[in-house]
This record gives sequence, structure tokens and C-alpha cells, in this order.
Amino acid sequence: MRQQQTLSKSAFFSGIGLHSGSLTSIAIHPAPPNTGIIFVKQIGDQMASCPATIQYLAQTDHCTTLQSGDFQVQTVEHILSALAGLEIDNAYVEVQGNEIPAADGSAAPFVENLEDCGYTLQEEPRNYIKIVQPIHVEDGERSITVLPAALPRISYFIDFPHPLIQQQNFQHSCTPHEFARNIAAARTFAFRQEVEFLWSRGLGLGGSLNNTVVFSESGLVNKDELRFQNECVRHKALDFIGDLSLIGAPIIGHFEAKRAGHLLHTQLVQAILDNPDKWIMLNAGKIEQSEILNRTTSTSNTPSLTELQPAFLSV
Ligand SMILES: [Zn+2]
Repeated sequence: MRQQQTLSKSAFFSGIGLHSGSLTSIAIHPAPPNTGIIFVKQIGDQMASCPATIQYLAQTDHCTTLQSGDFQVQTVEHILSALAGLEIDNAYVEVQGNEIPAADGSAAPFVENLEDCGYTLQEEPRNYIKIVQPIHVEDGERSITVLPAALPRISYFIDFPHPLIQQQNFQHSCTPHEFARNIAAARTFAFRQEVEFLWSRGLGLGGSLNNTVVFSESGLVNKDELRFQNECVRHKALDFIGDLSLIGAPIIGHFEAKRAGHLLHTQLVQAILDNPDKWIMLNAGKIEQSEILNRTTSTSNTPSLTELQPAFLSV
């Protein structure tokens, strides 16, 4: 039986937000068992909080945005992917600004930073959602199916009519080692005409060739090479792991995703919650299935202001 884990000390990160274009900082703090991942932000003399669960999903337009009351945090998928990929169960992600830094468009800088901080095993057992019957979501030719399996596994397929992408397949065994080695470094990608359209809508303002792979009509705009021949599908898997973590517990099942994106990823999370007869909780320490299904409060696990106040004073 695996125990839950948190960070051994706080991790700090700052940089440009991909969509807002503003400088933004985060501090990732250790948190008690059964906290899950909670975004927090000091607003006035209060600490606002927003759990990283599907109940707080605000939108999935080009990035995943969470919101609780007035507190909104954009582009959460890469940091959530890093935390889930490294199997960090409990953390407070304190944000300044309203967006997670874009870093280099991948999760690698987060992974490096988190690995440097080290992990602490906690006394509570890890809770898993185990899929016992298939669950399927689709939208035209996009689909995701999750099947019962002994170990968590992802098969992702994409198909873009671009000479450097075309059909790409990626198989991933969900372990921290595989995540760090095969997924973390895969960057966000976009097409030149799409980038111009995003900018006209006030999105992607922090996007640059330093944090996005940009494809021209037939090639690559970036000067550097792709990090993997199939970097795009690996990045899709990275996004998927982050979005999937919004269910609030690791899932044991085999995911088969085809041409999916943030919207379908989050629809799968909702479909799993809507079909509680198709999964069971394993190692349910203090978290029962009903708790996963009925998460409504955002305040019960909010740390006090004094607990986290030193975060940005020390950077
Ligand atoms: Zn992404």
C-alpha cells in the first residue's frame, strides 16, 4: 500500500503567463494528508482558495481555468500534470497574479524544481479510483475510453494534416520515472495562423518561441529542433494527465484518447463522476467515494494566512 506524499519544502517559480503575458509567480508548499492540490492566493488580508477539482472548472478554451468566487487561476494544466506525474498528492499552490507561469511551454522546469525539493511520505494511505467497467466520451471523431487495467496507462493518438505531425501515437505507463523521462519536456504547440488569431482575441499574449512550438504551413518557425519526433502527442498526454487530476485522486485504468483536447479531457472526468457504479475506491483511508462525488466546500482546507505568508517575502 502506497502512502500519500507531499513536498519536503516549498518550491518557487516565476515567469510569464502564456495567455495574460504578465509576470506571475507561484510557490508550491507542503500540505497535510488528504488535502489534495489547492490553489491559494492572498487577496487583501484573506487567503482565497480554489481546490484543483472539476467542480471549480471555469473553462477549457486553449487552457484549463479554475475559479472559486472571485479567485480565478488560468493555465493550471502543466503544473497539475507535473504534480500528478510525480505522484505528489498534497500541496498548496500559492499564486500571485491569475495565471501559472508558462516556463518553456512544458512541465520540465516544474519537474526539476519539485524534484530538487524532495518528497515526504505521509502517514495516510494513497486513495485510488479503480475503473471496473469501461467509460467512454466522444465528440465527432474525438474520443476517450477508459478501460479496467491492472496499472494506470495512457494511449494517445493525434492526427494533424501537417507534414511534421500527421499521425502520432504515444503509449505511457504512468510512473514518475516515465513521466519525467518521456512527457515532462514536451512543449505546447500551435500553428502560425492560430497564434495570430489567438492574439486578436487577447489570448496567448505571453506566447513566444521560447515557450511554444510554432508550426508554419510546412515546417517549424522555431530555430531549435523538436525535442521528440512525436513531441505533439507527448504534450497532449501531458495536458491529459493534468486535466485528469481534476478528479482529485489517481485513477487506475487504461485510457485510450483519440484527437482529444482540454474539453474532452474534462468531460471524461465528469463522466467518471457521473458513473460511480463503474469504479471503486481503493485504499480508501479517509476519502470515500461519496466524498469524491460531493466536493462542494472550498474553505475547509484553506491554510491560514500566517501559515503561508512568508512565501513571497523570501523570494
Ligand atoms: Zn499544454
